[in-house]
Amino acid sequence: MQQHNQVAPGDLEEVRRFINTWSIPNQTRVETDALPTLMNDAHAWARQVSLYPRQPADSLPMLSTLRLALRQACADHDQHDEALNAVFGAVALQAKVKSIEGVSQLRLESLQKTYAGHVLSIVANAIAAGHFSRLKTCGDCQWAFYDHTRSGTKRWCGMTKGGPQGRACGTIAKVSAFRQRAADKARKGDA
Ligand SMILES: [Zn+2]
Repeated sequence: MQQHNQVAPGDLEEVRRFINTWSIPNQTRVETDALPTLMNDAHAWARQVSLYPRQPADSLPMLSTLRLALRQACADHDQHDEALNAVFGAVALQAKVKSIEGVSQLRLESLQKTYAGHVLSIVANAIAAGHFSRLKTCGDCQWAFYDHTRSGTKRWCGMTKGGPQGRACGTIAKVSAFRQRAADKARKGDA
């Protein structure tokens, strides 16, 4: 079924991977930041984060700030415009026109040759295209996923375990709600 697919379309998947360098893995349930390790391992970086290599200017504090801003935005797209505006303020983006079959298209590109600039140009283009708000973090485990549902109202990372990292929070939430209703019913029955 389609809803198990958490992968974001096109280069937005790179942003999702970057956001998920911070996670609460299923096995440990402990907040884990893989960024410091990944930043010092070019091969792991290319495999797990991006083919765009980290540059010397991409320091750990700056990438952590960027990731936090993206996490805040993806947790609630209505609430965190300031967080995104703050990180956009730190990077110069340039508009580039590309015409395809007579239709002019605009792409924003980073003037800084940094990974942070690369990520922000992807985010800017996804916002312009209107689908950035479908990149979300799970209300429970905070895993980032792309909402492929027609309604765009998905709140949890997956209704079933979508992969080794998937927790199926939607299913867990449903089961909890069912148990709660059953318990309420039982209590009312007792009264
Ligand atoms: Zn989840």
